[in-house]
Amino acid sequence: MKIKSAEIVISAVSKAQYPKNSLPEIALAGRSNVGKSSFINKMLNRKNLARTSSKPGKTQTLNFYLINEAFYFVDVPGYGYAKVSKTERAKWGNMIETYLTGRHELKSVILIVDLRHPPTNDDVLMYQFLKHYSIPVIVIATKADKIPRGKWEKHAKIVKEKLVIEKEDPVIIFSSETGVGKEEAWQVIGKWIND
Ligand code: GDP
Repeated sequence: MKIKSAEIVISAVSKAQYPKNSLPEIALAGRSNVGKSSFINKMLNRKNLARTSSKPGKTQTLNFYLINEAFYFVDVPGYGYAKVSKTERAKWGNMIETYLTGRHELKSVILIVDLRHPPTNDDVLMYQFLKHYSIPVIVIATKADKIPRGKWEKHAKIVKEKLVIEKEDPVIIFSSETGVGKEEAWQVIGKWIND
């Protein structure tokens, strides 16, 4: 994918603020600090478009990035950050649920997990939630540069088993440091936005 333009057009807190031009949307979900901002920046060839988090769990908005005037990346706030209050968590839940379950433009969700470790219980819950609503998922297993290449497949297998992954959902080994997996990720995303 050649990135001609990428800009954040709205940080939405409510449905009324979602873009109205009906372009396809790909959402990005993952626990705080998993590497979601780094993934977005790497995919869009930008250093700092998505802020890499000095304050995990603080971005409680849905950030819409318009790409090539053709589709959106929708950055969903990271989950599983312990210091978020119950009230904040409930607000987070409502906002995410409203978006994920009712958005016609949503084509697929990119679920970002850490290749080094088995998915957390929150990762499993998020995957089950998406499957409950029959939303296609692309799993990005990131930080691959932190483990030897010879162990990648073993770790990917653990990711698939813990999530109980459905066979149509791809798991892509990725690194925001080296760019491994970037082409494959664009290929898969491309299918959803051209459909
Ligand atoms: P977010 O909270 O999910 O948006 O996570 P960030 O993108 O801010 O990343 C959290 C930390 O992990 C930062 O220190 C990043 O530099 C680091 N990180 C993210 N992706 C990678 C990766 O692919 N490889 C390595 N080595 N570090 C990464």
